[in-house]
Amino acid sequence: MMVRRADPAQAAVRARARMVERLRAQGVRDEKVLAAMMQVPRHAFVEEGLAYSAYDDTALPIGYQQTISQPLVVARMIELLRAGRELGKTLEVGAGCGYQAAVLSFVATEVYSVERIRPLLDIARENLRPLRLPNVRLKCVDGSLGLPEAAPYDTIIVAAAAASIPGSLKEQLAPGGRLIIPLGAGEQRLVLIERQGNVFRETRLDAVRFVPLLAGTE
Ligand code: SAH
Repeated sequence: MMVRRADPAQAAVRARARMVERLRAQGVRDEKVLAAMMQVPRHAFVEEGLAYSAYDDTALPIGYQQTISQPLVVARMIELLRAGRELGKTLEVGAGCGYQAAVLSFVATEVYSVERIRPLLDIARENLRPLRLPNVRLKCVDGSLGLPEAAPYDTIIVAAAAASIPGSLKEQLAPGGRLIIPLGAGEQRLVLIERQGNVFRETRLDAVRFVPLLAGTE
């Protein structure tokens, strides 16, 4: 009799395919985003003990009181930023474990991802290394000041919630560029900012829950 053995790699591929189907059912339409979510092994970005939940639609702890964002929120944010254009040069504020940076690497030309907690950035680096993504650069800085050295950015994605839009981020957005950021203290909402010349058009979107955007590095 043939015994079907559990193959963890195959199980992860199946779990990921189910996650992508769920994202579709939840309304994500951008095929390029869905394909990117299918590429990135999310289980490799969480502690071994949490790997079985990696493809559930929840945020998970990654240490240092931070979390890996929920798959739907990652997909939604990138879909909103892409709508009708390419992401181009992208700045991510809040690398965390590096998961979203990996997803972005499949849909953006260049990804600069910054994190204020140095040991967390080291974890992100370790997580990303085996994927050999040639277009992702990580840096330990306070991302509320942006990353002037590579500015301007066609896209800025902020993975932590602020009370207001940091001025540096608006300044570092290229004309025609888009920025998405969770705003609000108690109740948070995703806000999409589109820059046309020196006009910044804001659209308030989904209610969300993110960890706070904090100043300085540690
Ligand atoms: N994108 C991550 C989500 C990380 S949670 C993922 O895919 O898992 C948000 C991260 O933002 C946390 O790691 C937190 O430390 C970081 N953060 C908060 N304020 C920041 C700041 N001013 N600059 C850079 N990173 C910041």
